[in-house]
Amino acid sequence: LLSLHGVQKHFGDLHVLRDIELEVTAGEVVVVLGPSGSGKSTLCRTINRLETIDEGEIRIDGELLPTSGPGLARLRSEVGMVFQSFNLFAHKSVLDNVTVAPIKVKKVPRAQAEREGRELLERVGVADQADKLPAQLSGGQQQRVAIARSLAMKPKVMLFDEPTSALDPEMINEVITVMTDLAKSGMTMVVVTHEMGFARRTADRVVFMDAGRIVEIQPPEQFFTAPRSERAQDFLSKIL
Ligand code: ATP
Ligand code: MG
Repeated sequence: LLSLHGVQKHFGDLHVLRDIELEVTAGEVVVVLGPSGSGKSTLCRTINRLETIDEGEIRIDGELLPTSGPGLARLRSEVGMVFQSFNLFAHKSVLDNVTVAPIKVKKVPRAQAEREGRELLERVGVADQADKLPAQLSGGQQQRVAIARSLAMKPKVMLFDEPTSALDPEMINEVITVMTDLAKSGMTMVVVTHEMGFARRTADRVVFMDAGRIVEIQPPEQFFTAPRSERAQDFLSKIL
């Protein structure tokens, strides 16, 4: 469903993505781990073209990622992204946050967008907050709204970049639960996270990055019990 081939990315002299090769099949959950600065966020950002790449190709459903124009808008609707900061529209209600893109970008009739939006809010457990402003919600609730907002565009793949890192510990689980349910529903997901429990339980494969390279790709049980590379061993010894 998603493939990266020979992807290279530089920021000036810094070679942040080095010859990235990755195939993600439909319904697969890939968790990306690696030390700070290894290129995890940049990898996510290239997949929905928040960053351009210098070389290589990225395909979704076999189609090369467009770089501009209407193709880019369509791509953005096919790839949902959830960030550490929730990035909700502060002056719109929770429901409006979820319906604005389907209405504006996809020309979905308002009544239908609102019906689907309420269903999504229900699914992430915040249906009773629909008429509030984001600031009136807890961090965990806001992040769940952000997930619903992405899902409203009916993406083919969802990218998560440390979605729980800005949350108080007691709110992490509610977001992880929503992500786990989404994974079980068959969504294709690429997840950068420090939640090793999620990685162990839910990932189909773990991608370990270091210094812009994919160092190893393994099923979680192998990765956590018998990492092949010294770098992964070192990384795990620091966090587990
Ligand atoms: P973290 O775990 O801290 O979030 P990361 O693995 O997500 O790290 P990236 O954010 O992808 O790492 O950054 C990879 C490297 O690229 C880092 O050295 C970072 O400083 C650099 N970098 C990221 N964005 C830019 C930018 N816009 N301009 C210049 N350098 C950048
Ligand atoms: Mg990052």
